[in-house]
Amino acid sequence: MTVSPAIGRVGAAWRAARSVTPAGHLDAAGCNVPSDRVLDAVTAHLRRERELGGYRAAPDLTGARASLAALVDAEPGDVAFLESGTEAMAALLGGWRLGPGSRVGCTRAEYGSTFMLLRRLAARRGWRLIELPLDGAGRLDPDGLRARLRSSLDLVVLSHVGSHHGVVQPAAEAGALCRAAGVPFVLDVCQSLGHVEVRGTEASAYVGTSRKWLAGPRGVGFLIIPGLTDTMDTLAPTLAGHIWNDPSEPWGGLGESWGESGESGKSWNSRLESWGDRGSSWGESPESWDGPAVGEASRPVPGAARFETSEAAVAARAGLGVAVREHHELGPPAVHAHLAELGRTARGLLDGAGGWRVAEPLDEPSALVTLSPPPDDTAARAAARADEASLLVGVVPVARAPLHLREPVLRVSPPPGTPVETFEALARVLSTH
Ligand SMILES: *Cc1c(COP(=O)(O)O)cnc(C)c1O
Repeated sequence: MTVSPAIGRVGAAWRAARSVTPAGHLDAAGCNVPSDRVLDAVTAHLRRERELGGYRAAPDLTGARASLAALVDAEPGDVAFLESGTEAMAALLGGWRLGPGSRVGCTRAEYGSTFMLLRRLAARRGWRLIELPLDGAGRLDPDGLRARLRSSLDLVVLSHVGSHHGVVQPAAEAGALCRAAGVPFVLDVCQSLGHVEVRGTEASAYVGTSRKWLAGPRGVGFLIIPGLTDTMDTLAPTLAGHIWNDPSEPWGGLGESWGESGESGKSWNSRLESWGDRGSSWGESPESWDGPAVGEASRPVPGAARFETSEAAVAARAGLGVAVREHHELGPPAVHAHLAELGRTARGLLDGAGGWRVAEPLDEPSALVTLSPPPDDTAARAAARADEASLLVGVVPVARAPLHLREPVLRVSPPPGTPVETFEALARVLSTH
């Protein structure tokens, strides 16, 4: 492996920041290894909560928000912390005011839980899912997106890097096309932030998670929403993120139906039932999903705070702030270059070993490497053999991308500083079956 000075520095600094790492760790895309400083920040905050009282110890997360936002040239007020990438996506899409018939573009390589969510929202709200075409490598075809935008889309959702293959989607090009068409663009950066360049994609909203390439603690996800509009609000209002419109009228016009069995109560209840049964009736509900809230009891506060959960593992949020600061200190472009080099090195050594084949192009600029098994081996068996050899790899089940993955694949995702000997050891494991 040829190692440039900058690349050597990133790997060495990453390893120096961790007094302990699991042996043979090749699962950064699943759950990365936090640094000693991140671990210290989390435990120090938990100790402060015990000494001062949890509410009195509440950390100032402005710095954490600023570091995270800076990764995509956004502002601290654009950041909302949640508990996972899945939660963040559900909060964002679940509350989005899009009327029946709205056209939502996504590819068949979309992440499993996002796809489940979109299918459910489509069924209940009458949205239409419009397939955005991929090329043979599983890469979004920008001309296909352009054509779909021309025949009208109301929202585009894209995973920058998938969980199940290492292809880096042309997010900047997709973002520019959506922006030119005036269509909101949601970019899932769970596998890309801290791994490949996300700046310049100019998405309306980014959905991310802490524990993967940013190497923060588990249990934190986030939204960064530079393009917040009135149509974007959570379905579940919170006291920290919402304000009563008129606290003296909390029942609004629906109050008389509460506990009474009068005519108005019946019609309200039957309307509620019909929402449950038929997605298409959303548009007839008292709260139209077509535009800004009308007749609602509460309204969101300015900024992304409307999406944030207020009761949370705040120590972990503080820990993520430290992890992102460390990422800035290493220098994101140098980290990206180092990881791309690790990915290319791993693919070169693993492709063909024991008949296993790398699924994405060998020179793809990512460190997420996926391998398809030969006929006489499986991902689960290879992962078990790797475990015996003290190597930690991932197995990606078909459910992770049900319309794109045909069989479970082995996922190799080296953290910075992974020595070439680790890939050579894995190649031997793949060869002996
Ligand atoms: C991991 C992942 C998610 C979900 O994040 P969680 O924090 O696990 O909920 C979403 N999209 C992609 C591409 C992922 O890899």
